[in-house]
Amino acid sequence: MSGHGASSSNGKVAPAAFPPPVDSQKEFVKHGLDGEDELIEVGVVIVGGGTAGLACANRLLQLLADDPETMERLGEVPVAVVEKAKTCGGHNLSGAVMRPGPLQELFPDMSREDWRKEGFAYGEVTKEAVYMTPSAKTKLRIPTPPNFKNHGNEVISVSAMARFQQRLAEDAGAYILTETSATQLIVDDGRVVGVRSGDKGRGKDGEPLGNFEPGTDIKAQATVLAEGCWGHLTGAAIQEFGLAEGREPQVWELGVKEVWKVPKPLDRVIHTIGPWPLKLSAKYGQIGGTWLYPMKDEKTGDDLVSIGFVIDLEYADATTSAHDLLQQFKLHPLVKGILEGGERVAWGAKALPGGGYWSMPKLSMPGAVLVGDAGGMVDTVALKGVHHSIMSGKLAAESIYASLVRGESSFESYEQAIEDSLVGKELYQERNTRQPFQKGFLMGGPMVNLNIVTKGRLPGGRWSWHRNDAKPMFIGKTKDNYPKPDGKYTFDKLSSVFITGNATRDDAPNHIRVQKHVPREIAETWQWMCPAGVYEIPEDAPESGMVDVIVNYTNCVQCGAITAKGGRLTTPEGGDGPLYQIT
Ligand SMILES: Cc1cc2nc3c(=O)[nH]c(=O)nc-3n(C[C@H](O)[C@H](O)[C@H](O)COP(=O)(O)OP(=O)(O)OC[C@H]3O[C@@H](n4cnc5c(N)ncnc54)[C@H](O)[C@@H]3O)c2cc1C
Ligand code: SF4
Repeated sequence: MSGHGASSSNGKVAPAAFPPPVDSQKEFVKHGLDGEDELIEVGVVIVGGGTAGLACANRLLQLLADDPETMERLGEVPVAVVEKAKTCGGHNLSGAVMRPGPLQELFPDMSREDWRKEGFAYGEVTKEAVYMTPSAKTKLRIPTPPNFKNHGNEVISVSAMARFQQRLAEDAGAYILTETSATQLIVDDGRVVGVRSGDKGRGKDGEPLGNFEPGTDIKAQATVLAEGCWGHLTGAAIQEFGLAEGREPQVWELGVKEVWKVPKPLDRVIHTIGPWPLKLSAKYGQIGGTWLYPMKDEKTGDDLVSIGFVIDLEYADATTSAHDLLQQFKLHPLVKGILEGGERVAWGAKALPGGGYWSMPKLSMPGAVLVGDAGGMVDTVALKGVHHSIMSGKLAAESIYASLVRGESSFESYEQAIEDSLVGKELYQERNTRQPFQKGFLMGGPMVNLNIVTKGRLPGGRWSWHRNDAKPMFIGKTKDNYPKPDGKYTFDKLSSVFITGNATRDDAPNHIRVQKHVPREIAETWQWMCPAGVYEIPEDAPESGMVDVIVNYTNCVQCGAITAKGGRLTTPEGGDGPLYQIT
């Protein structure tokens, strides 16, 4: 662990110089299973009951329903899903405009009208508009670039879709362990043989409380890591099996979202690509954009709008805050005309993997596979990952099933199935699209456009990424323009966390690993970045040099952004965190 003296001569300092006190491989990989009478045995264990994990569970159960012999071989619990949220969907958040194909393939008997009746889909996109926002008052409509074409797509809520998929999976025989974190990957003889669930009922210092329940080994013939963007066990697996060797590092983005009930329906999907409210100068390193998606709730008849701000975690100004930028964006006349007179009904935040094709780790290892965001399958120029998550879950299920039927234990065919599918093809086309932005909006923009227009042919080759935490930070002026929250139209972080239904016990053990004595630049980076207001710098801390950081971890909404900028989100106790409903 390094520390003092890590500031560069120009006063800038990179978060990577203050790495989190954690060794994933040592702490989160368990070698060998407990004795037979102390463990739970299942056929396939899926870690993460989100979009990808539940697609995998449902597809496996569809295949097993027609094959009682294999079903029986998998034992009493053929498919188990381990989900840390109170219920599936509780920790899921997305924009979300979805390309419908993979969901239609997964549930061919359902129509899009059925999806809307189920309450997770909110209508087909029929109109769209893309704007540049040169300033706080102006907008300039531009022809819709190919990556923002959404005509025919469906607006959904991934949180509501997870609850729907949970119900289908349970009806088909899945055992879904909600309020349960998977805290260790179990490896035996070079092969993943399951996961260990986390203890419950420990106090602040790890001491067992009156209601203490120890975790259990869950032994499985196949393990699917569907933890979302670079989860806890995924990171450990990547290290243990060298899955990222020869790949580019993963990079990240952070999105903050609100859902508004509005008086007038919005009739189109809107994207804005800045530069306002971000700074144009390359020294700020700020690349981001916004969305506004119309949602018609068929059950209540309510007109809703999903609005969000997403920013690359590549920025250099420590005072960049996705939450406050979203509040600022809402003051633009374009947005005021849509939201004013309405009411905010939901808020949330989540990170997503932004590296695309070259940053995807190897997707299989002995005994296990990675699906969805855990495998880095987001097309970030289009801000689309839901359809890839569903497709990868489905393909993983089919590869695992085929191997189990043959009595084999290798799931390597999944890797090729992804490469040959729409997931591999789309991500390959976008493989060099985002990297030029590392040179800034003005310098990189033309190259990005060239790549989009030529469908990835130019620039060719392999463009590299550098890690987000390697970016030196400085304390800039982005914060100067954040609005003061009025509690009606613009909101502070803590009242926003409150409406997520966050239920972390005050005496839960700390699941955030960061160094607590760091240069002011790093402390401010965390303080401004965290959408939940977890990091605090004491008022009497010096204006420069080393400061102490207070970590109010019970506010955490588990967005994962800290992992990109010098800290580590580890799994909290099962059941903690937000309870998202329509994000
Ligand atoms: C702000 C934002 C906007 C987006 N907009 C769009 C969009 O408009 N359209 C689109 O197509 N895509 C969009 N995406 C991308 C898309 O949302 C994701 O690609 C997709 O939802 C990922 O699904 P997943 O199942 O892989 O991961 P997740 O949805 O993150 O699910 C992972 C699940 O695993 C659980 N979990 C994690 N670790 C553990 C553990 N150790 N133990 C137990 N449970 C665990 C989590 O609680 C969670 O429920 C957006 C993403 C973000 C963040
Ligand atoms: S503390 Fe929690 S909410 Fe804040 S940035 Fe880290 S993971 Fe996100």
